Amino acid sequence: MHRGRDRNGPGEVIAVDRNYVPMQEMSRRKAIRAVAAGRAEILNPSDFARHRTLVGRIQLVIFPHSAACPDAKLLLGRLERRVMKRDHFHCQYEGCTHKATTVDHVIPVCQGGPNTWQNLVACCLACNQNKGGRTPEQAGMRLKAQPKGPRAHLFERFEALLKEASAA
Ligand SMILES: [Zn+2]
Repeated sequence: MHRGRDRNGPGEVIAVDRNYVPMQEMSRRKAIRAVAAGRAEILNPSDFARHRTLVGRIQLVIFPHSAACPDAKLLLGRLERRVMKRDHFHCQYEGCTHKATTVDHVIPVCQGGPNTWQNLVACCLACNQNKGGRTPEQAGMRLKAQPKGPRAHLFERFEALLKEASAA
């Protein structure tokens, strides 16, 4: 399998289950492969019409045989990369406008901070180094927003997509 060619970004497709509940984001290539294999159908977000062939830009696919996906399954994929994408590659500390190049544990690992969506944020190198092994409170830093879990993040993207489609 080749990796890295259609690297996420805006080309990422949202997959929904048979109840139109977003399950996960996947690369265009993976989505097209699922459609070609008959496991998924392309959804037009403006009217939820299904297509079996490619129509323009794929943004949404439905897995008609798939039931609701448990939260735990949403953690598939490389967590750090997904956290960076969730935070749009921007440093999440207040007052900072830098691009993020690292992922910071809000509660540091050395203080027992877990590897979860809610404890990881995109962070620039300067903020990360300044914060060190301290909590934001200890370092006198504040997050721009409370980090969200994967489900909330997916729903946000899904809703934005529908809004965009109905406005067009
Ligand atoms: Zn920063």
